[in-house]
Amino acid sequence: MNHARAVWEATRRPLLEEPLPAEHGVLSPADRERLDTDPYPLPPRTGLARLRRPVPWTLDTVARRQLGGHPGLTALLGEPALRYGLVPGQAPAGAAVLAYMEQSFGVWYVRGGMRALAEAVYRRCELRGVGFRFDTPVTRVVVEEGRARGVETAEGRIEADLVVSAMDTDALFRGGLAEWPGVPAEEWEPVEVPGRFSVLLALRGPRPAGTAHRTVVHAADPAAEENALTHNRPPCERPTVQVLRPDDPTLRPDDAHESVVLTATVPAQDEVDWTAPGFAEHYADRLLAHVDAAGLGLRERVLWRVVRTPTDTLRETGAVYGAVAGPSLAGGFGPTARLKAANESPVPGLYLIGGGAHPGGGLARVGMSACITAGLIGPA
Ligand SMILES: Cc1cc2nc3c(=O)[nH]c(=O)nc-3n(C[C@H](O)[C@H](O)[C@H](O)COP(=O)(O)OP(=O)(O)OC[C@H]3O[C@@H](n4cnc5c(N)ncnc54)[C@H](O)[C@@H]3O)c2cc1C
Repeated sequence: MNHARAVWEATRRPLLEEPLPAEHGVLSPADRERLDTDPYPLPPRTGLARLRRPVPWTLDTVARRQLGGHPGLTALLGEPALRYGLVPGQAPAGAAVLAYMEQSFGVWYVRGGMRALAEAVYRRCELRGVGFRFDTPVTRVVVEEGRARGVETAEGRIEADLVVSAMDTDALFRGGLAEWPGVPAEEWEPVEVPGRFSVLLALRGPRPAGTAHRTVVHAADPAAEENALTHNRPPCERPTVQVLRPDDPTLRPDDAHESVVLTATVPAQDEVDWTAPGFAEHYADRLLAHVDAAGLGLRERVLWRVVRTPTDTLRETGAVYGAVAGPSLAGGFGPTARLKAANESPVPGLYLIGGGAHPGGGLARVGMSACITAGLIGPA
């Protein structure tokens, strides 16, 4: 954690609080190298090791070399990264900052669940005079005289002084809704990262006294989990599962019932066909059996359940492959780690926010992306 704190101190401002130093959306090679260099403090190399080319450390290297390969500590270090779709064998050592942040600052829960947060933001926007048009997908960002001037929708064109896109950045450019100068849509390569699988459970019987808000049931075989996520294999049968059981009366009809959410990081849509008949329901059964084997006793209490796969994420948010957007990380090696797109896009007047833009996914970062972009745009 002390080493991870050094990463936090080095990256907090440039990778969380400040805009990327990009000109027209592009970082200079020197800035890219600086920001892509993993700030995890590696121990000095001694003896013959000094003569060999240094190999970048991953989270797995940290676990092996600095946690003695202890399975429990290794799982604790890797789990927060895995939740963002970063596989410990490929994530840079600096991803230890995710475990550090949770341990140091804790995790926030919104009473009423995520929906309560969305509704609070909606009410606040209405008070500030924001207009909403639901079910009106944008089909193109209108660029005239080299500037974004509005958007086209099925209901016609909407003029604008500036366009701020919260769409998945990959979907925006790959789908041809906007053009990254010099990169044709078909050449826009999205980063392949895993998705999330959730089982929402309505349980009969009260929430047992003293139940933890969050329990993690770790993978029975971490190597098998990593293999499934990196080699597009069928999803791991006994993966790392997060079990959320907040003590929140607004989430249940009465105290004789409980609601619980299971979440696992899984191969994204297309790596696995989550729409195949019975596939997702069968996998939900596997997860329930896995957490029950750890003593949770949920299965026999299930009244009904809703299963959600990366396909639902894809359908509802447009995120390419229904993938989880991870944070912007320094040390951009490995297929799952890289800096996100700068908030000021190469198209003048078009700004990028949300999980696909700097500083990346997760609600805290998504809020920061809006905050940084508001700063770039300046007062109305
Ligand atoms: C199962 C799951 C659980 C998660 N749990 C947590 C958690 O506990 N804590 C946490 O911090 N993060 C969590 N995350 C991550 C978090 O939800 C995302 O990082 C965050 O929602 C991203 O916000 P966003 O605004 O970038 O994108 P989104 O919330 O996906 O919003 C993008 C919006 O753009 C709309 N859109 C897309 N295309 C168009 C178009 N062409 N025209 C008009 N509108 C369009 C979509 O309909 C959508 O409403 C979770 C993610 C998943 C998938």
